[in-house]
Amino acid sequence: MSRIVILGAGESGAGAAVLARKKGFDVFVSDMSEIKDKYKKLLDDHGIAWEEGQHTEAKILKADEVIKSPGIPKEAPMVRKLMAQGTHIISEIEFAGRYTRSKMVCITGSNGKTTTTSLIFHIFKSAGYDVGLAGNIGRSLALQVAEDPHDYYVIELSSFQLDNMYDFHANIAILLNITPDHLDRYENKFENYADAKMRILQNQTPNDSFIYWNDDPVIRKELEKFEIKAVACPFSELKEKGSIGYIESGEYRLEYPTPFNMEQEELSLTGKHNIYNSLAAGLAGNIAGIKKEIIRKSLGDFPGVEHRLEKVCKVGGVQYINDSKATNVDACWYALESMTTPTVLILGGKDKGNDYTPIKELVKKKCRGLVYLGADNQKLHDNFDSLGLPVRDTHSMEDCVRACNEMAQPGDTVLLSPCCASFDLFHNMEERGNMFKEMVRGL
Ligand code: ADP
Repeated sequence: MSRIVILGAGESGAGAAVLARKKGFDVFVSDMSEIKDKYKKLLDDHGIAWEEGQHTEAKILKADEVIKSPGIPKEAPMVRKLMAQGTHIISEIEFAGRYTRSKMVCITGSNGKTTTTSLIFHIFKSAGYDVGLAGNIGRSLALQVAEDPHDYYVIELSSFQLDNMYDFHANIAILLNITPDHLDRYENKFENYADAKMRILQNQTPNDSFIYWNDDPVIRKELEKFEIKAVACPFSELKEKGSIGYIESGEYRLEYPTPFNMEQEELSLTGKHNIYNSLAAGLAGNIAGIKKEIIRKSLGDFPGVEHRLEKVCKVGGVQYINDSKATNVDACWYALESMTTPTVLILGGKDKGNDYTPIKELVKKKCRGLVYLGADNQKLHDNFDSLGLPVRDTHSMEDCVRACNEMAQPGDTVLLSPCCASFDLFHNMEERGNMFKEMVRGL
């Protein structure tokens, strides 16, 4: 019996363990941190050996194959040791892919993955397809394959998952965009990160489809290096040569595999970035053969995803919007670009080496003022104070929302789209967004 060791027992690791056990492997799970109770129970229920708070080298180095959680960097000492002895290291998605013949719709990109994945899931569900949501969101693919299989899976893939995928094959692959993010995990080389994203193409065949954003210069450059073996399905904002999804004269249009159109105004998601997400999602639905009226209806009634340009409520004529998920500069650019009234913008948090230059013009054009929210706001002062807008410095969500309330005028928008991670003051971006909503509703 071969031995599989799983590093990291979160959603993906625990799910992979259950599938491996079912397939008859000798399974050992090791997590350097504390394992959540629900995953401990899952492992115990399946008689799977596990440890937490440590990695017992003698047990791990005996593995024939290792499944690594995407959160563990390849520089982690145990991973280095495994690599040095030549142990094959894969991701949970790669492992699960070996045990299913279901159709895989896979979405990657620097921004827009969760939105697009959720929208595609919504379209497929509305069409009555038997579909599972997996990857970075939803339940682990491995667990679904083991216990609750579906005909289709819509899978959000991060570059970290793609790093350890080799034979996995996406029937429909979607690449939304590539902008700098997570460079700390890629030797600070943008090219390495971009190459990781391109792995979504690997193993595709002429029976598959590759949907990608054709306006993105980085993707175009990468495509000089990587061959598309699937049917190429480029989409762009405006109609241009080769694009099979675009906006023309206020109409959302798809040309492949069959013509589809609807009024742009009927799309439920607003903002330029969401046009791209809606084009990618509509193409996936159209390629999967979903009826046009269902695609049209689903693109029109999708409720959106929490913490992504989520309308909270209006207070005193001011619209509050929670975009806590905007943890990089590019995401904030798109959020700000979609604002139609003077905006009080909340910026700040844990800076990931941000270059704020790309948003300065937009900030000047769209913002009534800025509220900084972080443990240390100095870098924001250095970058934005010179624009001459009113600025408030805050270090808690309570003070931040109060400052916004004072600064905004009726008809304005208050936008939390902070460009930064949340770990300086909050556990995660969800907590930041939830606290924002709570304080706003309490105004
Ligand atoms: P991801 O899962 O890739 O992090 P999300 O769908 O959660 O992406 O969106 C994250 C943030 O990125 C949102 O707050 C939104 O402002 C921005 N965003 C969404 N889609 C796009 C896109 N296609 N291009 C650029 N930014 C986007």
